Amino acid sequence: MKRIPFFDYRAHFGRDEEGFLKVIRDVCARGAFILQRDLEEFERRLAEFVGVRHAIGVGNGTDAIWIGLMAVGVGPGDEVILPSHTFVATAAAVKLVGATPILADIGPDRMVDPASVEAAITPRTKAILPVQLNGRTCDMDALHEIADRHGLMIVEDAAQALGSRFRGRCAGTFGRFGTISFYPAKLLGCFGDGGAVLTNDDEVADRIHALRDHGRSRNGEVVSWGFNSRLDNLQAALLNYQLRRYPDVIERRRAIAMRYHERLADVAELGLPPAPDADPRHFDVYQNYEIEADRRDVLRDYLAERGVQTHIQWGGRPVHGYRALGFDGVRLPRTEAFFERCLLLPMNPFLTDDDVDYVCDCIRAFYGYGS
Ligand SMILES: *Cc1c(COP(=O)(O)O)cnc(C)c1O
Repeated sequence: MKRIPFFDYRAHFGRDEEGFLKVIRDVCARGAFILQRDLEEFERRLAEFVGVRHAIGVGNGTDAIWIGLMAVGVGPGDEVILPSHTFVATAAAVKLVGATPILADIGPDRMVDPASVEAAITPRTKAILPVQLNGRTCDMDALHEIADRHGLMIVEDAAQALGSRFRGRCAGTFGRFGTISFYPAKLLGCFGDGGAVLTNDDEVADRIHALRDHGRSRNGEVVSWGFNSRLDNLQAALLNYQLRRYPDVIERRRAIAMRYHERLADVAELGLPPAPDADPRHFDVYQNYEIEADRRDVLRDYLAERGVQTHIQWGGRPVHGYRALGFDGVRLPRTEAFFERCLLLPMNPFLTDDDVDYVCDCIRAFYGYGS
């Protein structure tokens, strides 16, 4: 029996311990801890990588969303439409700037459904907030068409989608701003918390700079109220170091997705995410490999008994499923049906081909298919 953790946090460091220690020693020996050149360099290279004018490092991916919302003027009285199939942080960020999160359903592609978004628009709607989930970018043409027709702005939660593209353009660069998370298990993970806001708007970038650093502008003058939500220089240096090989990480994730697809496509009891080459408009980076499965909970136990750790996103509920948050009347049939069946298989660059084959063999055996 193999043991396949959902994500191996120790391997995240251990795969290149010497390289990481060199970075840590260099940064600490220079005493370069807060807002230093490693952060500036990382911000510049991250912006280049996604093709955007500004990338601004912040404390985490959640701060990135609410700081972005504040910087574009979303606040009390405004409604923001987002999918219920997201991390609670997306909705919380909207709530915490004083606006109202309005939850939309997913479409057949499991991304936010443009028709559901349009149906949720009211005179108070200020922004549409698509979530670029699992390493895939939404059909941004459809969302832009709706936003333009109703005079709304688009802002993106791209926490799970660094390097994902739709029609050649990177997730996080479609709207007034987009956000990235560097949580350790994310595509590009640091060794703690970290996040970034991406924007092409110079004024929004200036506001974000001030908001993340006590209201201070780049030359140190206090220009507004602000907070402290800076990306640590040490984390930035470690991210910068990893960014060099990030294209290889994406390639590996896509190869794993292809392998899952080849080994599982004939299993009628499953619904798989699109294969890497399924649609030329999409370039997916597979933060997660989220399947739908008949008898999901029994399959999950079966896999656990065989050493395969799986995961159900968001603790098994979409945002409107959390009683304490007050979405009592909300009904989103596709999302609710999806949450009866969804399951994340292990998906990370530490998996070997043998690991993936083992997971697939277990699943095939469970449903009575030969290997
Ligand atoms: C991880 C994640 C966030 C939050 O990022 P943190 O860095 O953990 O604050 C927000 N939205 C989505 C979709 C995420 O997956």
